[in-house]
Amino acid sequence: MKKAIQESRYSKPARHLPGGIFCAPWCGANCTKREHDRAQKEAYKLALRMQQAYPGVKWVTRVWENLGWHYQISGGAFEVHVMKDRNIPGGRHCWRILSYSAWLQTSPQIIGDDKATPEVAVQDLLAKAEKVWKEVCLIRKNVVKLNSATKIK
Ligand SMILES: [Zn+2]
Repeated sequence: MKKAIQESRYSKPARHLPGGIFCAPWCGANCTKREHDRAQKEAYKLALRMQQAYPGVKWVTRVWENLGWHYQISGGAFEVHVMKDRNIPGGRHCWRILSYSAWLQTSPQIIGDDKATPEVAVQDLLAKAEKVWKEVCLIRKNVVKLNSATKIK
C-alpha cells in the first residue's frame, strides 16, 4: 500500500555526508559536523554559566540548523540568544560571539537589547519586563477606576 502522505524533504533531519558534512536536505548549505559540535558545546557552556547566575532556573539547550548551526538556551519562558559573526577566516565552523540577547516568551513577547554578556542581557530584559509590568498595572488601575465610575451595572 502506498503512503498517503509522502515524506517531505523539509521533515528529514540532518544527515552525515562525506567531507564532514552534517546537514538536512531542506537546508542544503553543507553545514558541518564540526560546526554542529561547536554549537552544541557552546550551548552547553552557556547553560552552565547561566545556571550559576540563575540557579533557580532550569536552563536547557537548543541547537538547530538554518544555513548553519545555531544555538540558544531557555529556562521556562526565558531564552538567551547568541549573535555570531561568521565573517572571520577559517571555515564554516569559525565564528566569534558578537552579543547576547534575552527574550521573555510571554504575551506580549519582550525582547532585550543586544549586550556583551548573557548576564547583562538578562538584566536588560528584566528591566524591560518591569516597565511592561508597571504599564499593565496602570492599565488595570484605570480599568478598575472606569468600572467603578460607570452607571451601567
Ligand atoms: Zn545545513
